[in-house]
Amino acid sequence: ERTVQRIAAGEVVERPASVVKELVENSLDAGASRVAVSVNSGGTEGIRVRDDGVGIPSDQLEAAVAEHATSKIGDIEDLNRGVGTLGFRGEALYTVGAVSRLTVRSRPPDAEAGAEITVEGGDVGEVRPAGCPAGTTVEVDDLFYNTPAREKFLKRTATEFDHVNTVVTGYALANPDVAVSLEHDGRETFATEGNGDLRSAVLAVYGREVAESMIDVDWTPEDGGVDRDGSTGAPAGDPAVERVTGLVSHPETARSTRDYLATYVNGRYVTASALREATLDAYGGQLAPDRYPFAVLFVEVPAGDVDVNVHPRKLEVRFDEEPAVRSAVEAAVEDALLDHGL
Ligand code: ADP
Ligand code: MG
Repeated sequence: ERTVQRIAAGEVVERPASVVKELVENSLDAGASRVAVSVNSGGTEGIRVRDDGVGIPSDQLEAAVAEHATSKIGDIEDLNRGVGTLGFRGEALYTVGAVSRLTVRSRPPDAEAGAEITVEGGDVGEVRPAGCPAGTTVEVDDLFYNTPAREKFLKRTATEFDHVNTVVTGYALANPDVAVSLEHDGRETFATEGNGDLRSAVLAVYGREVAESMIDVDWTPEDGGVDRDGSTGAPAGDPAVERVTGLVSHPETARSTRDYLATYVNGRYVTASALREATLDAYGGQLAPDRYPFAVLFVEVPAGDVDVNVHPRKLEVRFDEEPAVRSAVEAAVEDALLDHGL
């Protein structure tokens, strides 16, 4: 039965990046002001996420890694935040523990001593005392050991790291008030300051040239549409989009990939082609052929208007009013570019 469990979990845990996503989300849920992610060989050889959040009291460590530990999916609000997208909700640590060697070490800030627990291929060990700073460290080794998923990762560490980087970057940009860092094979990839400033987070992640080229976006339906290319902006009545904020790059600061178009809906990182296309459309003919800008865009829509469960493990969303969302995002970006004479 354990093997069946392990194979099932191996299919649910798609790749190292999906584990990193869950661990970072837990750290943010724990109110961390620092989240340090460190992976080896793209995460296939080891993942460690350390935070300074509320911690886990030693008498709750076992429950934290158990099946149906703390299913906290209660309402649509949670769904919209995308809580627990890995496997069954509220079972991320349990699922990861079934396909790896998982160690959770933690100390709540007011506790004198810390404690740790290890799960190996689903076998839960004893809670032991452990010296550690306030907060939680989760270590995942031998991910997918003994599962079919493992073979897929043997030669693909660069690809896996790209996925890890995308996930951690996504959270770093969405949470500029949290100091997020990423390390790969002992070398720092980036570290944000956590000072609350989005431009500063962009500087840490994408570098100075990109940060300096960034243009502020801040749009509400009252700003209306702009008609450079005849787009009408937001329709009258209840707005499909309540606000769009963020940063987009000058058209000359562009790359040959769409990977740097980060979009968030109601605070949740999503991949929505409608949002990407709307952003690109806003640039009109200003981008060189096959060049794409940098963008970090936070789109706020009424909670009931977005379906985040197109696929439980993916980041896709579907909008009830996609054309209206598109034209609002296009208007927001166009507005920002026009403000800069672009
Ligand atoms: P969920 O997050 O959906 O509750 P998880 O399996 O991801 O399920 O985590 C189980 C529980 O372990 C959490 O509800 C939380 O109580 C605790 N936990 C996990 N990671 C952390 C962390 N970094 N800091 C504090 N508590 C944590
Ligand atoms: Mg979780």
